[in-house]
Amino acid sequence: MPYSYLVAARYRVFSVRVAAVSALTPSFVRVTLTGDALADFSAVGLDQRIKVVLPIPGHGFTDLPDGDDWYGAWRALPDAERNPLRTYTVRSFRPDARELDIDFVAHGDTGPASRWVSSCRVGDELRIVGPAVPSSPAELPSGAAEFAPGSATRILLAGDETAAPAICAILEALDVATVGHVFIEVPTDADRLPVTAPAGVEVRWIARNGASHGVRMTDQVCAWASEAVSVPAGVAGASRAAVELADVDVDEQVLWDVPTVAEERPVYAWIAGEAGCVKELRRHLVRGVGLDRRQVAFMGYWRHGKAEH
Ligand SMILES: Cc1cc2nc3c(=O)[nH]c(=O)nc-3n(C[C@H](O)[C@H](O)[C@H](O)COP(=O)(O)OP(=O)(O)OC[C@H]3O[C@@H](n4cnc5c(N)ncnc54)[C@H](O)[C@@H]3O)c2cc1C
Repeated sequence: MPYSYLVAARYRVFSVRVAAVSALTPSFVRVTLTGDALADFSAVGLDQRIKVVLPIPGHGFTDLPDGDDWYGAWRALPDAERNPLRTYTVRSFRPDARELDIDFVAHGDTGPASRWVSSCRVGDELRIVGPAVPSSPAELPSGAAEFAPGSATRILLAGDETAAPAICAILEALDVATVGHVFIEVPTDADRLPVTAPAGVEVRWIARNGASHGVRMTDQVCAWASEAVSVPAGVAGASRAAVELADVDVDEQVLWDVPTVAEERPVYAWIAGEAGCVKELRRHLVRGVGLDRRQVAFMGYWRHGKAEH
């Protein structure tokens, strides 16, 4: 079927309940969700994102329509009935058991998602919004995953703790022949997570241990990139002079600079985390080191001092 006849996957609201809660480390809580509705959930793996719909204390959940209208309907609700929505990664999905894991960063009482995860119990209700299994061959299988290395033979993955679930899911899905480097900044030494990666991929967990957010990771990623760009197998031909980089005010805008066309590229980089830190890395890598931005996905996952909505 010609691509132009394909339509985007249907998004729908899935009613689920908490099947298990486990504290993986001091900062990560894994919540396993289950429910018959998940029989219709379309998992693409990698960094697939979903919306988590959080209950309003004393109210619970307001029903939302399935399909393209769900977001407009949600926006039109009165404040008291509009459930908070937050974006999370599908850490893993087990279709046979109808179980979906989300690894939440517990960052205290400051936001509805973090607050919910610190008190959720087995049996609690939750809703998620995500793609449904295609109902006809005319539907694209799914969306909402950005990792797209194309023909790249070397990868860089970098992110803070909010990106760790996506990075771990990507690592587990990589071809065994992949080579590359991974930098994951987490709050403390005790927050390193076990992860399986191809033998040629070096995974470096960087503990902040009280340092400012992103500084240690930025230093290490920039050092890596300076070296990678200078070798012929690296980012050949990237020209600093040719780089145009629109400024993004992360206080006002979402930083989401992701290449839309799958370029032929020797290196592919995927960078996500706190928006100010991702912006800083983007400036260093594109303007400073000369990394071609068509080879890099830069994604602000959250913003210091700002709620998601
Ligand atoms: C595509 C995508 C995938 C994501 N995947 C995950 C995931 O798998 N796991 C995960 O934990 N997060 C993930 N995030 C990040 C998550 O959506 C945000 O951290 C979100 O703001 C948390 O919502 P909240 O209700 O706890 O806080 P909000 O109400 O959004 O924010 C309240 C306050 O908390 C601060 N804040 C938000 N997040 C953090 C944090 N992590 N540490 C410290 N302060 C914070 C904000 O700056 C604000 O001041 C993802 C984001 C995106 C865009």
